[in-house]
Amino acid sequence: MSKKGSSRVQPPVSSGFSMHRRAFLKTALGALVLGPALLNCGETITEPRQFNMSVEGYKGLAELPFVELTADGKLKFTDTDLPLATDFHCHLAFAVGQSPDVDFQQKTDKVGYIMDCDGAKDPACTFNMDDYINKIATPKMLDHVDEEIARSGLTGGVDAKTHTIPNLIEERELARVGRSVLLPIAVNIGFGRDDMVQQWKDGLEKSGKKDSFVLFGSVHPEPKEVHYQGKTAIDLLRDLHQQGFRGIKFHPTIQSVAPNNPKAMELFEECQKLGMAVFFHSGRAGIEAGNNGDYAKMENYKEPLSKFKDMQFIFGHAGARDHAEALALAKQHDNVWLETHGQGVTSLRTIAKEFDQSRILFGTDWPWYPLVATMAKVRIAFDGNPPLLRKVFAENADRLLKMINAA
Ligand SMILES: [Zn+2]
Repeated sequence: MSKKGSSRVQPPVSSGFSMHRRAFLKTALGALVLGPALLNCGETITEPRQFNMSVEGYKGLAELPFVELTADGKLKFTDTDLPLATDFHCHLAFAVGQSPDVDFQQKTDKVGYIMDCDGAKDPACTFNMDDYINKIATPKMLDHVDEEIARSGLTGGVDAKTHTIPNLIEERELARVGRSVLLPIAVNIGFGRDDMVQQWKDGLEKSGKKDSFVLFGSVHPEPKEVHYQGKTAIDLLRDLHQQGFRGIKFHPTIQSVAPNNPKAMELFEECQKLGMAVFFHSGRAGIEAGNNGDYAKMENYKEPLSKFKDMQFIFGHAGARDHAEALALAKQHDNVWLETHGQGVTSLRTIAKEFDQSRILFGTDWPWYPLVATMAKVRIAFDGNPPLLRKVFAENADRLLKMINAA
């Protein structure tokens, strides 16, 4: 282990797990398994100091000069020069299909991250900040992901019991995150429950803390009778709008539907009419079940972007492992925002050099990963560029949320 301030840079860890073995989830769980555009572009940004990009587990992040471990072993982000961040990509517990209720008000000692880089012992997990984030996963970590996803549709998730509002709020306080955009998903699983939006809405109401959250909705373009009793996707979207929702999450991989599917296009057309934003999971993450990742290929986003110019689209994960294509596409449209969760330090810097810096968003994908994991990467990528850090952590999200609320 190196000491704080070390300039040792290690080569990236390579991934390389097989994907076909994950196909069982598909059978077990069906669909669940998972202005001027050139303004600010081409800006030069200051080179960061040298940081050690590769640490042992998430806890190794405490080697960084702006991260500490608390007495009870929790990660704390200590750069108090920055404003509190808005996390534009956050979730609570998933409980769908036959899963029982989760108590969203429960406080537990620890959070069970779905990708647990500290829990992996054999082999140990190296957290490389320059890689796409899920490349940290060992085979055992991926088995754990599969099991947790399956449980969250069947007997109830184990980690899920810790993906609660008080746990998130405690972690936000340590990580200097002040607000979270919560992204539920209508999984349209075909049995049992598909009421994630309502569960999270109720949880926020009961918590008394809903002012520091923005809850998006979610609608499947072809809602199943068993869940929605004959309502169309357009009916469901209008219901959400009437309840005050101003955006939806669209997840091609989990929902098993491409963004250029004609029914999805109808849904986006209605979003545009209602002034609602669409947060896409964008690009292939590389760990999808079977061929489900193909729904999220970047070419499938071209049609909605070229047709709907008067609404705000957010590319979640900035294209994931297809980030080069996502960036090229985003550069052609001034209504696209890049939410950068998962991207490595070099990729984050490429985005800041080539894309409008006022449309880059910070997101964490909690509770898949700890909040500080992404705080650290962004802080390193834009080290020495305080105005850019303020934009990415806070100002850009403020501007987007104001636009969405005013629409
Ligand atoms: Zn996510």
